[in-house]
Amino acid sequence: MKYISTRGGMAPAPYSETLLEGLAPDGGLAVPEQLPGVDAARLESWRGLGYAELATEILGLFATDIPREDLARMCRAAYSAENFVSAEIVPLTRIDGGITLVGLSEGPTLAFKDMAMQFLGQALEYALARRGSTLSILGATSGDTGSAAEYALRGKDGIAVYMLSPQGRMSAFQRAQMYSLTDANIHNIAIDGVFDDCQNLVKELSGDLAFKRAHHLGTVNSINLGRITAQIVYYFWAWLRASDDVPSAERAGFEVSFAVPSGNFGNILSGHFARSMGVPIRRLVLAANENNVLDEFFRTGVYRPRGADDTHATSSPSMDISKASNLERFIYDLVGRDAERLAGLWRELDAQGSFDLSAETHRFESEFGLVSGTSTHADRVETIRAVHAATGITIDPHTADGVQVARTYVEPGVPMLVLETAKPAKFPEIVAEATGEAAALPAHLADLLELPQHVTELANDGAALRALIVAHAESDDRQGDPGQPAE
Ligand SMILES: *Cc1c(COP(=O)(O)O)cnc(C)c1O
Repeated sequence: MKYISTRGGMAPAPYSETLLEGLAPDGGLAVPEQLPGVDAARLESWRGLGYAELATEILGLFATDIPREDLARMCRAAYSAENFVSAEIVPLTRIDGGITLVGLSEGPTLAFKDMAMQFLGQALEYALARRGSTLSILGATSGDTGSAAEYALRGKDGIAVYMLSPQGRMSAFQRAQMYSLTDANIHNIAIDGVFDDCQNLVKELSGDLAFKRAHHLGTVNSINLGRITAQIVYYFWAWLRASDDVPSAERAGFEVSFAVPSGNFGNILSGHFARSMGVPIRRLVLAANENNVLDEFFRTGVYRPRGADDTHATSSPSMDISKASNLERFIYDLVGRDAERLAGLWRELDAQGSFDLSAETHRFESEFGLVSGTSTHADRVETIRAVHAATGITIDPHTADGVQVARTYVEPGVPMLVLETAKPAKFPEIVAEATGEAAALPAHLADLLELPQHVTELANDGAALRALIVAHAESDDRQGDPGQPAE
């Protein structure tokens, strides 16, 4: 299996290579030359597998350049009892109104990004060792992505992490989660500025090609193909678990729908791929918060990203995204994998800030099962309250966006599976507003807030950041054993 660019300008590359690159050289995104198909018999043959084994089967269809036993070892290490609280890794829980939660937040940072990042950490370490090279991840975070990356990459050979966060603007829990790490390869840097300043510093240093090359700078952002492929696994898993009690003669045609709290369109894109591969998915329900560029697109066919000034800070902050970087991969399929037409749309987007596919809107649902909706702060509060009152279960505000929008699309006889993208303990304010009770931290994290924190405070200044990276690289070299090959 080889990977090509959505814009047609990349020589076919193997899976491991795409993990180490961000955008394709032509500015597009890597996609499989052809999605692998999984027929009903094969799907059924996977019913008895545990999560790590299922991940090995599915990722094995994509990572054909990684020997099977290596992939199996990486999946076992990623989806282990050490990393995930639930023995099933991804538990399914029925709530009210025909809705089932798919528990994607059992990992170390209590959010679904762990599902992909834990695998990516394994795969990056493997790919770097095979190439004999190293990687410095430079990232900016307002909370969730940075911590998931740090927990996936801590202690990994050949990888250093420089994670910028806006000083004083993360929650106490998010700070404790990131800054309490003591691994030598994790560098937390609090920038005197806001999240956009952090992101601009990343852009500045990544745009300095000489510096980027000298220090092997890379990212693990949401367009990373390793993340997208790892997320496909839980759509298969959830369908298998939802159909466990269905009589075997009826399973092949048994459909479920998924509702996905969305921001960068990464999670739901993996659902689109799973559906294209053969998982019997009736609808993929995209849930947006007040930053509803994607809902607007799926309703009107007009895609018009918004600027930072038009992006609201909401109570489901991980969905406060107004430019959905992974949408390009879906549009590529929508236009029949016509790279030239795709590239034309993105030229239009660059030139006039939008493109118009309103002539195609009728195909969104009929061909791709894609429908959408928007949820607001008031909806989140009411949904958290109502689910808690009906079931005793507390959901987080992102999952609440999913449940709220899902309710409008529930159909009799079709399980509605809502992806639980975070745990409520991460968002105590809205949970208290909705239920009158604080969401307790899981027992194994109870002392997290008391641990000593490690963070370097830095001015919002590219030169200072460069100097810090150079100093760490030099001290890593001094500490390296000269008798050993460079890690
Ligand atoms: C990242 C994130 C999302 C959005 O996922 P995308 O893949 O960007 O669409 C939703 N909820 C939570 C809690 C997240 O961390």
